[in-house]
Amino acid sequence: MQPIQAVRGMNDVLPDQTPVWEFFEQTVRDWLSDYGYRNMRMPVLEKTDLFVRSIGEVTDIVEKEMYTFIDQLNGESLTLRPEGTASCVRAAIQHNLLYNGPCRVSYSGPMFRHERPQKGRFRQFHQVGVEALGFRGPDIDAEHMIMGARLWQRLGLSDITLEINTLGSDESRARYRARLVAYLESRSDELDDDSRRRLHTNPLRVLDSKNPAMQDVVREAPRLADDLDAESLEAFEHLQSLLSAADVQFEINPRLVRGLDYYNDAVYEWITTRLGAQGTVCAGGRYDGLFEQIGGKPATACGFAMGLERLLALMADSGQAPSLPVPDVYVVHAGEAASRFAWKVAEMFRDARLATILHCGGGSFKSQMKRADGSGARFAAIIGDDEAQGELVSIKPLRVTGEQRKLTVEQATEMIRKPCQ
Ligand code: ATP
Ligand code: MG
Repeated sequence: MQPIQAVRGMNDVLPDQTPVWEFFEQTVRDWLSDYGYRNMRMPVLEKTDLFVRSIGEVTDIVEKEMYTFIDQLNGESLTLRPEGTASCVRAAIQHNLLYNGPCRVSYSGPMFRHERPQKGRFRQFHQVGVEALGFRGPDIDAEHMIMGARLWQRLGLSDITLEINTLGSDESRARYRARLVAYLESRSDELDDDSRRRLHTNPLRVLDSKNPAMQDVVREAPRLADDLDAESLEAFEHLQSLLSAADVQFEINPRLVRGLDYYNDAVYEWITTRLGAQGTVCAGGRYDGLFEQIGGKPATACGFAMGLERLLALMADSGQAPSLPVPDVYVVHAGEAASRFAWKVAEMFRDARLATILHCGGGSFKSQMKRADGSGARFAAIIGDDEAQGELVSIKPLRVTGEQRKLTVEQATEMIRKPCQ
């Protein structure tokens, strides 16, 4: 029979890979707590309408990337979440999270997008999302970018640059839209199918095109900056001065529009040149209209999400891999009384918080010692009938040369605990 493979674009994370994931997750947990962001968890499955209303009908995600299906039991259309902001805002409205004022929250987990799998692009991938709900900015927007800079530093990552832009208000985008449509119409023979279709439905999306053949058209497009109103410009300048005061380097990229419709004012991406085409490791912005758009009371807010797979690839590329954890001790045992005692000893080691592997599956001392060595454990605890009778264990260092010594369990625990033995 053919073995069953995982779904294309969906990855297993194997035991040798989890240490770097856990290092990353722990670093992120500490970092979020240092900035006062509280964790929340939302379902991976939501009503399809949530994403259509928030991300926007004429976007890559909603048009072609969502895993959408009909619930066979009640005919409801459901979607595996392609991102977390919509669910987070849905939950904030549903549970009245802003009742006592603004809040800083975060979440992490798998997201699903039906894209063409390639380096740095998967169909199930993982994000950490950070959202500040009920804040007007731009101070909080600056906080988010300063947080980013600190996280890269804690992860030992350089070579990530910050690009920022402002999308202005709805009114300024409407003014710009008219100019952009006129421009795109004048170059309509150079547009690809997607862009031609979006010319009238969602022209700003054309600027987010990933098609290399479209890049000239995008580069020469009129600039949104010329249509911005005074308030947006002032907020954008304030944001820049906060970033400069915090020594966070940035570049203004007037073409940056982001692939989701809910953004306004400040948007940004953290980009590396070390990962090839999929160089955006983190992205975000302000979404003041989103609460209302999905049926809540109006509330200003902003946030960002980072892609774990891309950041982990960057860590590997930068030689930032933590070492694999090894057990403290591997317990080998043969003989009926010895085995009974070995189970006890292993539990006593664990009482002392020593990482202990108890040999299972029988076999000679010789074959068990091979396993002990292969496990990477620092010590073997050897228990034969002799040791069992005296309630002793023989401890043998496996990583340095040293005598095998017969000890009480307490003495053995002390010896194993010392880190450099
Ligand atoms: P891209 O332009 O690369 O398609 P995006 O604008 O669609 O990214 P966002 O929706 O802003 O991405 O998601 C935030 C981050 O999540 C991205 O910067 C990226 O690091 C990560 N990400 C998005 N889609 C994928 C994917 N299919 N596979 C792996 N990571 C992804
Ligand atoms: Mg995308």
